[in-house]
Amino acid sequence: MRIARAPIAWGLGALVSLSTPAAAAGGDVRVLVIADLDDDDGDGVADGRQSVVTGLAARDLASAASLVGGEVTPITGAGLVRVVAGGRVLPWGKTVPRGASLQGVAPGRAELRVRSGARERTVFVDVMGVGFRDGRRRDVDPARSWASLERTPPERVTLAEPDAAYADPDALRLTLRRPDGAASARLRVESVSGEGIVLDVLEHVPLSAVACPSDAPLGTVCEASAPLRLVVDDVDRVHPLVLGRSLRGDVGGALVVRDAATRKKLQAIRVAGPPSSAAGAIGRYTLTVRPLVVRVTPGGAPAVGGTDAGAIAAVRAELALASATWGQCGLTFGSVATMDVKIVDPPPAHLIAIGDDVALPAAGGEIRLRVEGKVVAVRVRRGFSPLQVALEVGAALERAGFGASVSENARIGPGAGRSADVSVRRRDGRLARVDAVSSSDPTLSVRVGSVDLTDGLQHFGDADAAAGTLEERALVKAFEDGDPATIEIIVIPFFAGGGRIGESFIASDASSMRNVVLLDRAGVRARRTSLTLAHELGHVLLDAPGHPDDFGVDTPTLLMDSDASDSSPFGPRRITVDECVRVLRQSGPGARVPLLTQWKLGPLRLR
Ligand SMILES: [Zn+2]
Repeated sequence: MRIARAPIAWGLGALVSLSTPAAAAGGDVRVLVIADLDDDDGDGVADGRQSVVTGLAARDLASAASLVGGEVTPITGAGLVRVVAGGRVLPWGKTVPRGASLQGVAPGRAELRVRSGARERTVFVDVMGVGFRDGRRRDVDPARSWASLERTPPERVTLAEPDAAYADPDALRLTLRRPDGAASARLRVESVSGEGIVLDVLEHVPLSAVACPSDAPLGTVCEASAPLRLVVDDVDRVHPLVLGRSLRGDVGGALVVRDAATRKKLQAIRVAGPPSSAAGAIGRYTLTVRPLVVRVTPGGAPAVGGTDAGAIAAVRAELALASATWGQCGLTFGSVATMDVKIVDPPPAHLIAIGDDVALPAAGGEIRLRVEGKVVAVRVRRGFSPLQVALEVGAALERAGFGASVSENARIGPGAGRSADVSVRRRDGRLARVDAVSSSDPTLSVRVGSVDLTDGLQHFGDADAAAGTLEERALVKAFEDGDPATIEIIVIPFFAGGGRIGESFIASDASSMRNVVLLDRAGVRARRTSLTLAHELGHVLLDAPGHPDDFGVDTPTLLMDSDASDSSPFGPRRITVDECVRVLRQSGPGARVPLLTQWKLGPLRLR
């Protein structure tokens, strides 16, 4: 039997004459098709198993030109291939109409008898199977499962053992199964984004012969590649141990395998979260972030980037990296390239803090405020909690024509109770300026919270971590949208005192200020070494203030490690499957305040 030469004419009925006796009689042809096991239309059923094959499910159909006009009956391999006409599977024995297609169903060789009138010929259909196999040597069904982003630092693989199992839960081998005598294909692998844009390419993925699975038809030849890795960025892609088998990947996108010569698509597998975990398969989730960059002074330069355009670009780059990193858990922020990044002035002194610090109850007295030049007086009764006082202050401000929003803070370490804040707005909705406050109450502290970023933002210490400092609250409460299901990311010039580059306020602090990340410009600059934003978002998503190394073993490759700083692929960038499970539990659709929304994969987009 002769072997067809590349480029292989997929499905075109390449008139490769066969040196069998039948060939002389009727001009027999041999056709090569691919087993269509992927799910281009994203309906959860392999395209080659759908009863109606229309739309994107028909993307990989091959020409059935060699069968047109004949009545086709299978001699062998009836279950390996089918004829599709008008979107329907054509029963065997019917005349194949013009425009019909061939669709591979499973790898192997089918022999079809084609009768037109008195003439009879044989069409050999070689069905090639391109697939994916995991480290436990199990085939991965591209219609029901998916590939996931790499959470293991680079490891050496032994190419001499293309059949060996491996521990990496994410890397996948490419497999090729073909009938003996059918040409092997040169495989090209593309990684495409969720928008269908090609992100990365391996021009040629070498294959080595491996033993076939027990259910492969007799006479099948099987090959496999080294484990391929889908990575977040170039840091992980170009390391010598993994170069040539790593591609940048995007949650919602796909790995697309093509014939290197003809570029015909052979198979695809989608990219999402961990395909197996203690919480089951984790597909794709999205979350809403609201990025804000604060100017150093009103009307002044933004905290990062030099100019407004530079700030937007810097923050989008940071968001893209954080989104890609959390892709390890199937999370994506959506299209970061066009995300709205607001540049805002630091707020005026709009916040009245009642019982700031230790939150003692009132002893009785009068609070006098001057807001935008207007004096407001509030009587305070003995025994009132800071929250009750704040509500009285809010009511008095509203009577005076202002808007007031009252929020309670988490109790801090040495606190007697919880303090409360009143944010004041003008009638037009803009923040009002509180010019002065005084209190005749001997125990109740009343202060004005203001923001001055020229000397850095006063950040919380161990004692007031839960509530944040007064300056932090004045900053964050100026920009909160009141929607606890969004995450505010506020970029500031720098924290006072040095050392800190990012911090987060999380749900379990039980504060009104939650799901907020503060990031300073050093945190933006340090993104290659410590992935600051991704780390701080981790505290919010995991709803955990601590770090795995606080009590346990130091694992400096983990994103949530407290002190690792390393710009190599062995730096802090990995997220464990268990952490992904915790994120789903604490912030998933079933959480008390869900930050994540499930986002079904849908049809495979290709451009
Ligand atoms: Zn941390």
